[in-house]
Amino acid sequence: MNAFFDMHVHSKFSIDGVSTMEDYCLIAEKSGIRAICFTEHVDFNSEEKNLSIVKDNRKQNFVVEDYFSELNRLREKYSSIILLSGIEFSEPNMFPDEFALYSSYPFDCITAGIHHCYNSVFPGAGNLSVSKAIHEYYQIMQKAIEFGGFQVMAHLDFPKLFFDKWIINNDVLDTILSI
Ligand SMILES: [Zn+2]
Repeated sequence: MNAFFDMHVHSKFSIDGVSTMEDYCLIAEKSGIRAICFTEHVDFNSEEKNLSIVKDNRKQNFVVEDYFSELNRLREKYSSIILLSGIEFSEPNMFPDEFALYSSYPFDCITAGIHHCYNSVFPGAGNLSVSKAIHEYYQIMQKAIEFGGFQVMAHLDFPKLFFDKWIINNDVLDTILSI
């Protein structure tokens, strides 16, 4: 029997999530998905940023305590599905203190994601050429990977969402993959 795992899911605990964790459990149950990892966005580099959990619980979607309490409730209710905990932390190297704080929680999978360029959402506000924007994207990704501390780098091909053509220098990709 094939066992399908979905290791990158955003629920309503993420700024861009539209479904509850329980919605995902119901779908997984019906479609035979064996495991889900809820990798919610934690983002300190955005206009819609999540402020520090210490500073203000009300201004963010992702409140760690609420997240784990809902996850644990669902783990009991849907015991046939493996429910894993995770985050997708934007540009961890730029926010080492915040990253250390979030990493101190018992997440099963810490994912990093690169979403920003020059302090705004990729491809940035500066009207960069396609090749310059993509170059910049992978420079930032390389720095994040060198910083480390996570298990997965999300969506290596993220710039594809914004450009028809996707130009990447193979040397850059080789460097990133080898690190
Ligand atoms: Zn992402």
